[in-house]
Amino acid sequence: MQFQISCKSCKQNFGIDAIPGQTIRCNCPYCGSPAIVATPGTNPQPTMTTQPVSAPKKISRSKIDWHFGRKVTVVFLALAALFAIVLSGLYIVFSAMSN
Ligand SMILES: [Zn+2]
Repeated sequence: MQFQISCKSCKQNFGIDAIPGQTIRCNCPYCGSPAIVATPGTNPQPTMTTQPVSAPKKISRSKIDWHFGRKVTVVFLALAALFAIVLSGLYIVFSAMSN
């Protein structure tokens, strides 16, 4: 079974062949740092995060949109508040001038 490993040193992802539940010693092909990998199975404490290749990382599109929407809302509210402050400031200045 192929497992996707992410290196702790350089954060690169690489694949290894392993039997589930096995602990493998290998070197990172990118930075060469030694790694002891426990594939999901019998060992409860893997030294590196592993995940089967068949389940690739999925980025939730709706979550990104939600975050983006929130950011836009915050910016909009900040601008609206600034606009209100400027308007009230102008109002105070003009009412002081007319008196
Ligand atoms: Zn590495």
